[in-house]
Amino acid sequence: MDGQYLHEDGGAYIDPAALVASAGAPGEHFIFTCNCGNPACLGIDEGVTVTHTATEVQWKLRQPIAWPVEEKLPEWAQDVTMVFDKESYVEAVDRALLHAKTLAKGWDGDGMLWVGPALSFEELLALEIPDSAMISMPVGNGTIQ
Ligand SMILES: [Zn+2]
Repeated sequence: MDGQYLHEDGGAYIDPAALVASAGAPGEHFIFTCNCGNPACLGIDEGVTVTHTATEVQWKLRQPIAWPVEEKLPEWAQDVTMVFDKESYVEAVDRALLHAKTLAKGWDGDGMLWVGPALSFEELLALEIPDSAMISMPVGNGTIQ
């Protein structure tokens, strides 16, 4: 993207593929990115460091997430940690993904539908929560009373 205005007030976009990946595996995920798909474009030079425990998903990220590379970080810059319940996290990502797919399938307008940074319609539909994330999911509510 070369239009500077996009970066001034647009803020960061969520990359659906990175979000889904973060539910399946720990590591550095560029969950926040520019709408052109290149996080560096917004000054996002670090991804979210995602850690998984048996019951939690943790995010470690720098605030501000996006900052011009050539400028010094502000004094209030800091690393923040966010902790999510793993089951809720996977559920939330799954729901968001389903929602996005439903919207994308229902699209009946002219031209291309923008589904995500550097993501095609087919790629969006192919996105699935990795099996590794599903292991701790409840298998049903009929057995525990
Ligand atoms: Zn860009």
